[in-house]
Formats: sequence, structure tokens, C-alpha cells
Amino acid sequence: MADQDQEPGHVRPRTAVLTRGFDPHLSLGSARPAVFRSSTYVFASPEAAERAFAITTGKIKPADGERADLTYSRFSHPNAEILEDQIVPLEAGARHAAVFNSGMAAIMTAFFAYARPDATIVYTTPLYGGTTGLIHTFLEPFGVRGIPVRAGDTEGIDAAIRAARNCCIVYLETPANPTMTMTDLERASAAAAAHPDHPVVMVDNTFLGPTFQHPMLWGADIVLYSATKYLSGFSDMLGGVALTKSPEMIQKLRSRRSMFGNILQPDECWMLVGRLPTVALRMNRQSKNAQRLAEALNGHPKLTRVLYPTLFTDPEQKRIYAKQCDYPGGIFSIEFAGGKPAAFEFLRHLHIARSAVSLGGVETLTCHPKSTTHSGMSQQELAESGVTDGLVRLSAGIEDWRDLLADFEQALAAVA
Ligand SMILES: *Cc1c(COP(=O)(O)O)cnc(C)c1O
Repeated sequence: MADQDQEPGHVRPRTAVLTRGFDPHLSLGSARPAVFRSSTYVFASPEAAERAFAITTGKIKPADGERADLTYSRFSHPNAEILEDQIVPLEAGARHAAVFNSGMAAIMTAFFAYARPDATIVYTTPLYGGTTGLIHTFLEPFGVRGIPVRAGDTEGIDAAIRAARNCCIVYLETPANPTMTMTDLERASAAAAAHPDHPVVMVDNTFLGPTFQHPMLWGADIVLYSATKYLSGFSDMLGGVALTKSPEMIQKLRSRRSMFGNILQPDECWMLVGRLPTVALRMNRQSKNAQRLAEALNGHPKLTRVLYPTLFTDPEQKRIYAKQCDYPGGIFSIEFAGGKPAAFEFLRHLHIARSAVSLGGVETLTCHPKSTTHSGMSQQELAESGVTDGLVRLSAGIEDWRDLLADFEQALAAVA
């Protein structure tokens, strides 16, 4: 189960996700992986134990591709290794992965691996609420300065990165939640690469990845996921992933993970391994559904805006979308002319789509960001990022889109 080189032209990602990283002979011939729930692993010899600990604690450098023997499940366990090997080919350009017990655990661990006191983090706004909270209520009191810059403001992001002193991290989330505003990953990564401090470029790719957007190919160093969303896809587990190109970076993240104790548990790893082969199938269907719905609702008299990549009007946003994304994805937002009362009335009248936060599941979910997922933002941040009273976010599932459209239309008709 060692990290393997991704040989170009060997097999394509959708094949590799079913063939890589799992050897049935290590599991009594079981065609699908078993669950190894042990908390501790037996050593072949005292020398083997010594070497395993030396690698795990970073005292000696592993040979290229070598993983330490299993020792204790807080460091790693077979189901984590299988999952990490199988997820790598899905992320174009990635070489290594580490799995965590939630998306926030992956993000927090990446921040703690690279943030330093007195250093700065340049980040796009709006960010996922939990990430914003992590910066404001945890990192800033520790002396790390956050420098927010509006998502999609290509020149502004360039300038902010160039001007940042002692910059340790450039953190990007694109498309932004819930406005779908896109940030040019290549430009931001190039600005970071030209910076004398060589800040680590991290991209939260939860909304469009791994199927439709490939940050590593544009220069990102670490790609982060809430696996709770599309990767697992059934709204029935929490998980997080960090992927890197560099063996040193993954080693650092795994070593922090061993300290924090936030590795994904064996049962959850096993579940997620079973979901990976269908990520592309589900996301393609969800993207098609969302596109049909968003385009059908666009121009509805009760809506002021439908926010979706194929409906972008801003030339810069159109340019970034065309360059950076394969498909528009399964999430869109609609804005009601009648503000919050109209948005709430719409949510009250839906029969198929459920009112819940989260996204990426096979069932369609809707929420009112300003009063829920984004309620921690200040009035100024809300206004700047376009999270208005009338905005409703929708995450398309895999239902028949015609039933969803009928549901939305009847709920829209019920809005005064
Ligand atoms: C949900 C989400 C997270 C946090 O993930 P958890 O698995 O809930 O911890 C981070 N970023 C984005 C974009 C998300 O949607």
C-alpha cells in the first residue's frame, strides 16, 4: 500500500480509483477492502518497531514512496492507506493524500502546519464559515494576521499577495460559497510563487473538485476537501482530505495529524472508499440537473438573480470559468426580489428539496445562507460578498430534474 508513482498514460483516473491501493491478497482474497479496526499493530521485530517510530516521528526520512510500518491507528491504519492511495488519481496532479475526520480537521491541520506567529495569510472572501471562524477566533489571537481579499478580484488578489509581509499561506476557495464567484487559481499561484517568502498555496476544492476543477494543474500546493460533501455524496458521514504534490508536505500534514488525533476512522475510510468510484458519475448528474434548473429559473419574475457559472455576465468571471472549470457543477443560488420573507416562503413550500445546510449529497438540499451558514459574517462582509436577504442556495441531487423544476416552480408560485 505504498504511495505509488502516478505513471502517465498508465490507466485513467476512473480506472485507477478501482484498481490502485488495494491488494485483495492482503485481505484473505476479499474483493473489496475489509475494515481493520485495530488501534495497534504487531511488529515483526524490535528493529522494525524502532524504524517505524523513527519514520513516523520524522527522525529518519523514509525512502521515496516508503510508508512507515503500521504502529498505532492515530498515526495511520490500513483503511486510511487504502483510501489515500485510491483518492490520489482522482485529483489531477496530486501525488499524495492524507485523510481527516472532517473537512475542518483537514483545513485546520494544513493551517497549523504552515502558519507562524507574526506571519500573514492572504485569503479570498467569502470563505466557508468554519474557515473564516478558524482565522478570526483562533489564528489571529495567536498572532497570525489574516488579509482578506474579495474572491474574483484578480488584480486585487495579485496586489494583496505581493504586498503581504512575511506571508506563509495563500488560501483560496473557488467558486465562493454561496455566490459562485470564481478566482483565477493560476494568477494567484503565480503571484505566490513570485513572492520571496514562497507562501504555500492552499485551495478548498470542495465545490467543483475533484471532477470539474484541478487546482494542482494551476500551481496549488495543497488541495483540501470536505469529503462530507461530493466525495462521500450521501450526507451520512463527515470526512476531510488534503492532497499534495510534495512528499515533504504530506509528511508534515501526517505528522501534525498524528499529534492532533484527527485521522479519519477505519469505518468512515471504508465507506468513503466505496463512494469514490461513483464521484464522477454523481457529480456529472448533479451538474446537469443544476444547469437545467438554473437556466430554467433564470429570468423568473420573482427572482433578481440566478448565480450559476453558465449564467455569468461579468467578462472576468466568464473568462475564469471557461479557463478553469470543465463543467459548471451542482450548486447554484437564486435571489428573491421579495427579500427574506420571499426566500423563507419559497423554502416553506418545497416538497422534494429539503431545507438543510450542507451540499453535494444525492438528495437536493436548499438553505438561506444569510440566516444560517453565513450568519457569522459581519454586515459589511455580507454586503461586500453579495450574501443578501433574498439569497437561497441550492445543491442539486440526482433526482429527475423535471420533478425538481416542478417543485421549484410551485414553491415560487406560492411566494407573494
Ligand atoms: C462543508 C465545507 C467545509 C467543512 O467541512 P466539514 O466536513 O463540515 O468539516 C469546508 N469547506 C467547504 C467549501 C465546505 O462546503
